[in-house]
Amino acid sequence: MCLFFFIPRTESILLMADCTIALLGADKKTMVPVGTPLAEALKELVSNKQRKQMVAYRANGELYDLSTPVVTDLEIELVPADSPAGLEILRHSCAHLMAHAVLDLFGAEVKVAIGPAIEDGFYYDFDRSQPFTPEDLEKIEARMQQLTGGALPFSRRNVSLAEAREFFAGHNQDYKLEILDEIEGDSVSLYQVGEFTDLCRGPHVPHSGLLQAYKLTRLAGAYWRGDEKRPMLQRIYGTAFANARDLKEYLEKLEEARKRDHRKLGRELELFTIQDQIGPGLILWQPKGAMLRKLIEDQWREEHYRHDYELLYTPHIARRDLWKTSGHLDFYGENMYAAMEIDEVSYQLKPMNCPFHIAIYNTRKRSYREFPIRWCELGTVYRYEKTGALHGLMRVRGFTQDDAHIFCRPDQLEEEIFNILDLNLRILRMFGFDNYDIYLSTRPEKFVGSDENWQQATEALKLALEKKGLAFEIDPGEGVFYGPKIDIKIKDVLGRSWQCSTIQVDFNLPERFAISYTGADDQAHQPIMIHRALMGSLERFFGVLIEHYAGAFPVWLAPVQARLMNITDSQLEYGEKIYLELRQLGVRVEKDLRNEKLNYKIREAQVQKIPYMLIIGDKEMEAGQVTVRQRDGQNLPPMTVAEFAAMIGEQSTAEKNLAG
Ligand SMILES: [Zn+2]
Ligand SMILES: [Zn+2]
Repeated sequence: MCLFFFIPRTESILLMADCTIALLGADKKTMVPVGTPLAEALKELVSNKQRKQMVAYRANGELYDLSTPVVTDLEIELVPADSPAGLEILRHSCAHLMAHAVLDLFGAEVKVAIGPAIEDGFYYDFDRSQPFTPEDLEKIEARMQQLTGGALPFSRRNVSLAEAREFFAGHNQDYKLEILDEIEGDSVSLYQVGEFTDLCRGPHVPHSGLLQAYKLTRLAGAYWRGDEKRPMLQRIYGTAFANARDLKEYLEKLEEARKRDHRKLGRELELFTIQDQIGPGLILWQPKGAMLRKLIEDQWREEHYRHDYELLYTPHIARRDLWKTSGHLDFYGENMYAAMEIDEVSYQLKPMNCPFHIAIYNTRKRSYREFPIRWCELGTVYRYEKTGALHGLMRVRGFTQDDAHIFCRPDQLEEEIFNILDLNLRILRMFGFDNYDIYLSTRPEKFVGSDENWQQATEALKLALEKKGLAFEIDPGEGVFYGPKIDIKIKDVLGRSWQCSTIQVDFNLPERFAISYTGADDQAHQPIMIHRALMGSLERFFGVLIEHYAGAFPVWLAPVQARLMNITDSQLEYGEKIYLELRQLGVRVEKDLRNEKLNYKIREAQVQKIPYMLIIGDKEMEAGQVTVRQRDGQNLPPMTVAEFAAMIGEQSTAEKNLAG
């Protein structure tokens, strides 16, 4: 029985008593004297082998170091190194160890900033006048290895703020002092491993010997506090796992992701380019990328036509007053670009298409009979993103949304959501995505609209998801202030998640623009407005597609489906003739009729990941045929160009219909 309150981090215990430690979910208990480190108590509860895999424990929902002295009865859960919480602790501990190694190697001139665990790894930010090099990473890693060999304990001590200040001032660690300035309360905890002491809440692994499977992965610049006006620091990224096998698997996946990087493939396959003279975050679509986009857009329009949508086009700028009415200036102003004056009136670039669609809605009186109104637009919008946040096609400053707005009556909402989901999943499947996570976000703390509206709409979204037989998670309170929403995150070949589709109910804009329709009762009512985007942004979706297919697009999407190549100059004329025939037949074909070795031409086409190579020699010319070589190196029997075109057509249809 223990006589104390639950204060596990108290270091000096005066009274002696026994505490009971019970292992949650297992029928195991032990008694230890107050003040015993928890790790000691574990000897009675789990095997030695198990104990060595534990990095911390959880009690009452909080994580603690295994070295924490026991001061009360506890029901604990052990945290193994390979659990999500365990990995986070492991990675964060690696960050400390890395900082230790950096200070050892590069001396006192280095200032340390922060070093958290992140998804899949960790980083630490350093302030050092000279840049780190990739060779430095190797040296740092080697030094870390020496340190882990020693199994140095991570020890925690609580000190007063004044002591902490004195300590970090003595070591010239200005960033730590700045962090200390913002801490409220009178004491902080410090963690020491070897000769490195850091300001840290913990918990940490018991000793550095547990850190065996790690790798420093890359260098980057990062502003202190993410603020462009503060110093630029050097960030070293690393990753760590519970064992060498998991690390190896992760590094292989990372390498695969690197090979598929859309920025690299975009350059090699000449799909798109981003240039300084144009501006960061602004995409230039090269001919092959543009062809792919056209194919996506055509398919998108066709699907929307089939699902009874109508198409709109709207301008890129509008009077500033419109954005006042819509609320964008108040709620979204910092993402919008500065106003421009035209004839002494202020205009702004659009960050969203919605107000334009509402303006079209308002061109005349609407009746309940014409509902639902489904309007879609491939609308190009401009939103400010910090330079540091920009990333290839994934994070840009100008992009095209595959937008749509649906105006309907409350009793139509569920069916409309069902229809949107149907179209949404069909389009995603077409592009090879049939793995996704779906989230339903409910009312946040700040919201507009009545309780009743929110409840009804949330229920409608839920019922539609259920009717469609889709598993989903509820994200409580994560809805937008104007209504509940459904988000769909697709998973690519490498299992990475991408947020693409969003379906949002809106009680706000219809109110702000005071739009209405005449109901069956001859009275004016406010319609429900749904915003939705399926691919999200064409730019981003394109980036995801490039990485998903590693640039080897299926035939229906391939910007170039076939490249025609001759063996010698004697087939030149025949080549020119069938090249035109293929184009007439709608095949997306390129020709390579240069006087080069065939093997050389084949290799080039392979690098470009073109699905088919059409090879012509004398034999083919005489038979009026082509030899068809597939991207994977296999040959198909010779065929005429008409047969080839028919085959391509069938394959494209099949690929899309696989999609169902
Ligand atoms: Zn720490
Ligand atoms: Zn909208």
